[in-house]
Order: sequence, then C-alpha cells, then structure tokens
Amino acid sequence: MATRAMQDAIPATLVPGDGIGPEISAAVVEILDALGGPFAWETHEGGMAALQKSGDPLPAALLDSIRRTKLALKGPLTTPVGGGFRSVNVRLREEFKLYANLRPARTLIPGGRYEDIDLVLVRENLEGLYVGFEHYIPIDGDPHAVAISSGVNTRAGSRRIAEFAFDYAVKNGRRKVTIVHKANVLKALTGVFLDTALQVAKKYEGRIEVDERIVDACAMQLVLKPWQFDVIVTTNLFGDILSDEIAGLVGGLGMAPGANIGEDAAIFEAVHGSAPDIAGKGIANPLALLLAAAMMIDHVGRKDMAQRLRKAIDAALREDGVRTGDLGGKATTKDMTQAIVRRLA
Ligand code: NAD
Repeated sequence: MATRAMQDAIPATLVPGDGIGPEISAAVVEILDALGGPFAWETHEGGMAALQKSGDPLPAALLDSIRRTKLALKGPLTTPVGGGFRSVNVRLREEFKLYANLRPARTLIPGGRYEDIDLVLVRENLEGLYVGFEHYIPIDGDPHAVAISSGVNTRAGSRRIAEFAFDYAVKNGRRKVTIVHKANVLKALTGVFLDTALQVAKKYEGRIEVDERIVDACAMQLVLKPWQFDVIVTTNLFGDILSDEIAGLVGGLGMAPGANIGEDAAIFEAVHGSAPDIAGKGIANPLALLLAAAMMIDHVGRKDMAQRLRKAIDAALREDGVRTGDLGGKATTKDMTQAIVRRLA
C-alpha cells in the first residue's frame, strides 16, 4: 500500500546525464531520500546514453515526461560533436520556453577570496543577441568580409523577465533588484529592456529597492564590492558573462547550480559539464547538482525542506571539512554523500 508521503510526492523527471552524471545523480537521489524529499522520480536517459539507444540525444519519451511533470532535474549532457546535432540545452530552452535563467551564488567554503557572498543573477534566456540572426556580406572574393548579427529584445520579453526578477525578490525575502544594461550605447536593444524593467519596478515600490547599472561598471563593481548587489536582472549575453563572473566570486563553476524556468516547465541543473576526465572514478563532487535540487525544492514551495538541506551541506563543508578533489581534498562522491546524509539525521 502506498504511504501518505508517496501519495503526496510530486512527479518530477530525472535525467542522470552523461559522464559523471549518473554518479552525481545517484548521490543526489540518496541524499533527497534521507531528507524525505518531495519528488517521485521518472528517470529518463538523455545525451549520449540516449543517442546510442534511440538515435536522438533528446528522445520523445524524455520530452513527454517533462511535458507531463513540468519539473526536471538534469545531469550534464554531452552534445555529440558533428552529425548536425543542435545543443540539447538550447533545444530544451526553446521547447519549454524557459525564459528565465536563475543563477544564485553563495559562499559555501570560508577562506576564499570573498566571504559572505549571497547574490542571485536572473538572465533573460530566449532573446537578445542569442537569437542567432547572423549573416555575412562578401566583398572582393572574401565571403566573410563583413559579419552582421541582430539582437532582438521585445517589450513583452523584457516585462516577463523583469516581473520574474521582482517576484523572485519578494518571494525570497530579497531587498534590491539591480537592472543591468548598456542603454547608453545600444539605445534601442537594451533601452527597451531598461525602460520596461523600470516600469515594472514601479509596481514594487516600497517593497523592493531598484537600482540600475551599465554592464561594464557592474562587472567592475562585482569584483570590487560584490556585497552591494542582491538580485541582478539582465539580458541574455550580459547574463551569460556576468553569471560566470559571479560563480568565480564563490570559487568557480564546480559548485554552481542553475535553473531554467519557463511557462511550460522548470529544469534544474549543475552548471558544470559531464567531466569525462573523471567519469566512473567515483570522485566527482555532487554539490552543484544537489544545490540545483535544493532550488527545485524551493520552487515547489518547500522552503523549510530546502533550508534543511542547505544547512546539512554547510555543516558537512564547514564543520566536517569534507572536500572532494576539485575542492582540494581527497573525499570521494560517496564520502561527501554520507557526510551530508549524516548531517540530515
Ligand atoms: P566540464 O565542466 O565537464 O569539466 C571541466 C573541468 O571541471 C574538468 O577537469 C572536470 O573534471 C571538472 N569538473 C566538472 N564538474 C566536476 C564535478 N562535479 N566534480 C569534480 N570535478 C568536476 O567541462 P568540459 O570538459 O568543457 O565539458 C565536457 C562535456 O560536458 C562537453 O561535452 C560539454 O558539451 C558538456 N557540457 C554540458 C553542460 C550541461 O549539460 N549543462 C554544461 C557544460 C558542458
């Protein structure tokens, strides 16, 4: 007979992924089991594993599952080189209209370059210069003499991402949203984004402070005085660059989680790739995917549970000093998993 907890479980799609994906996914599932995690997993292969079996790195069964559950935890997927395959991550973004990319950064290990970092970047994920409207103009026999790229920012897309950022700030007890743009030079493309975001900000007056920065000044301020920022909202290309800069403030991509949230689904993932150099060795760090799972628990409204998980991660790192190879230690994936499970007990 199904228990109450099983009946209440939220269906969610799990894609273990390629390379270290299956190892870190198994670790995350074990830790969420110990937490009494809220999800009932539908596991589906994607990436190389799926390509070998079904001829498509994003098989229909996987897409159908996400369409049903609207919620997925995704291990890193290797995009096959050659063969005309488009990036699986871009396909997922377009398929499920995942317009918001959410990248939180928090100091987890003391003693790094910056202490007490806690900020969140919200990146527009579908518009801007990444729409890929590009072409060349040949001159004097040189087919690539001139390269042209057009960016597209819409009023509707800018409003949607700004509302997402301000709503996120309200729901997560944040105090300020900084709008990052380059409207002094790209007056139309990023001007529409800035104007629209400032209009949206008015609806939150008295609740959330608003601030705006030109992207180059923001990049410098992030290095000089990152604590002045809280939530940053920006367009696609600037968000891509600033999110990696922000990950660098807290020790690099190795422990960075991300979420892609849209109208039709929300997909949570580690920012790092499939790490083929250490796959199968049992030494991968599961924390980025685990922190992505914590964001997913937040997303379904179980903030208490996500907080318990984050506390257990903090205790394993800060008090028990557990470190995998990428963090300069010798702990295996299993050692890290067990340390966190013990802290949840
Ligand atoms: P990578 O992130 O896989 O690896 C870079 C370095 O970081 C490697 O030395 C690796 O061992 C290390 N590393 C990464 N994650 C780690 C972890 N959890 N624990 C310990 N060490 C870790 O980047 P790459 O080598 O450029 O890419 C490998 C593959 O991953 C490529 O096929 C790429 O397309 C794919 N990729 C997928 C995603 C995704 O699905 N979101 C993101 C980036 C790259």
